[in-house]
Amino acid sequence: MSMMMQPGIILLREGTDTSQGKAQIISNINACAAVAETIKTTLGPRGMDKLIFDGRKVTISNDGATIMRLLDVVHPAAKTLVDISMSQDAEVGDGTTSVVLIAASILDEMKSFVEDGLHPQIIIRGIRKAANLAVQRVKDLAVSMRGGDEARQLLVTCAGTALNSKLISNHKDMFAPMVVDAVSMLDPQLLDLDLVGIKKVSGGSVRQSFLVEGVAFKKTFSYAGFEQQPKKFSDPDILLLNVELELKSEKENAEIRITDPDQYQSIVDAEWRIIYDKLEACVASGAKIILSKLPIGDLATQYFADRDLFCAGRVTNEDMMRVAKATGGVVQCTCHDIQTSALGHCQHFEERQVGDERYNLFTGCPRSRTATIVLRGGSEQFIDETHRSIHDALCIVKRAMRSGEVVAGGGAIEMEVSKFVREEARKIEGKEQLIMNSMARALEVIPRQLADNAGFDATEVLNNLRMKHAKDEKGRWYGVNVDVEGITDTFQSNVWEPAPNKVNSFAAASEAACLILSIDETVRNPRTEQPGAADANGVGLGPGGGGMGGRRGKAPGGMPPMGGGGRRGMPKGVRAFKGRGGA
Ligand code: ADP
Ligand code: MG
Repeated sequence: MSMMMQPGIILLREGTDTSQGKAQIISNINACAAVAETIKTTLGPRGMDKLIFDGRKVTISNDGATIMRLLDVVHPAAKTLVDISMSQDAEVGDGTTSVVLIAASILDEMKSFVEDGLHPQIIIRGIRKAANLAVQRVKDLAVSMRGGDEARQLLVTCAGTALNSKLISNHKDMFAPMVVDAVSMLDPQLLDLDLVGIKKVSGGSVRQSFLVEGVAFKKTFSYAGFEQQPKKFSDPDILLLNVELELKSEKENAEIRITDPDQYQSIVDAEWRIIYDKLEACVASGAKIILSKLPIGDLATQYFADRDLFCAGRVTNEDMMRVAKATGGVVQCTCHDIQTSALGHCQHFEERQVGDERYNLFTGCPRSRTATIVLRGGSEQFIDETHRSIHDALCIVKRAMRSGEVVAGGGAIEMEVSKFVREEARKIEGKEQLIMNSMARALEVIPRQLADNAGFDATEVLNNLRMKHAKDEKGRWYGVNVDVEGITDTFQSNVWEPAPNKVNSFAAASEAACLILSIDETVRNPRTEQPGAADANGVGLGPGGGGMGGRRGKAPGGMPPMGGGGRRGMPKGVRAFKGRGGA
């Protein structure tokens, strides 16, 4: 199920000067709440996907970072949330929705303290204290799983949890082990995910996706003569070039004036000699496979075919780099003096038909261990979202492999940490206790939202969870049961997430909240805005203009000042969503 959205969020509180102090902080908190509001329905296995149209392209996604990127959030404070979601995506790869929801929930909890005039620095201190406790608690609770079959099961389970909330969740039986296998093919010391290539071939069914232990890339172009080339080799040497093997190559580089037709012939002869020299050098290198980043023309293709060699031109830079890394070859910029040591090698090469495309597969590569996942599927949007989902799962598997430690999801870890923070708060006096209690409540946003998205009575589910966790240690891993309304031991039901993932989201969400609470003024530099926007706002610090970023010219006439009458007819304190499409 998808929900149509339009990017571009504007937040307005009419008639209030929100440029400074308390009012500014409150307005920033409200902006973050609005961002969280848009993405909260995507959380979890019962979350919905978003269909985002940015004026050019339609994207369907469930991934917090992707949605945030496309939403085009213009509010400077709310952008902080976009940033944490991006950094969670870069560092962990998963948990991008959760981190935003937790940050917004912390802010929401702290709003009343700000309104009551409590100094932001006191609030920040309380948040930090609670965050440290939360992180410590996750580390203490983490269950270690190392070695043998158990370790593999752990990885497959974690990958499966990451895929639960995705469009491809009903194919996780295939993708979860595939992702684990792909990561297992890498060098365990490095676990460089760049060496897992993901190739997308539209068409076919998603279940026709497959994994190659090695490098695979699409053949972009083939000339006559290609049909006669062998399509399979055992133990071939591979020559990697950044050289054009086409006849025309010289004539574009020089202007030649000739007086006599014989001279013309000699130039043509010279060109032929140049290309034949190159081709002979390639053959003499002993390589069976010749790849070039530049075009390999029909003459060269036929020449190689006559000698039972395989060639492919116009290989993309990324693919060439992966082949080089995997096979140990060095890309040559000239055909002169090719050393044997510059050749790559692999155990098996094959060119195979995948859907409508021809794929070159290099397996059994000695130098660096690589893997390629070839994704199939009906529409481009579908394959793109599959790609993002696989990326999340790859990151999760890497994390889990590194740490070997997991916690149970479905809100279980959040409930348990929440309980711990509340208990610790009791030992502290005064305002800080209240703030820590609020932090404890803020974490409950995850189970609450999971329940809400599944259509359950969230208040009741949450009450049951609180009771279960309070009762004894056996309740530790109780989270939301998304299959039947209620709660369940999510450790037992294999909803596992790597512990570092949660450490990162709790820490990052708290830091983002602190950052937003510490901003009590937004100074606008009119020069960084559109001329129109600056006009509309007068000077840099327009009345109520704080908190609003420039619209980067999307709204005609620029952004109306918040306090001014730019948005007539809008009730006070109302959130306004404005789509670019409608403007
Ligand atoms: P994020 O972008 O934060 O990863 P997701 O939409 O992927 O957001 O949802 C992740 C949440 O869903 C986590 O809290 C995870 O524990 C939970 N989850 C995943 N699978 C299940 C399940 N089978 N039952 C309950 N919760 C689940
Ligand atoms: Mg996820």
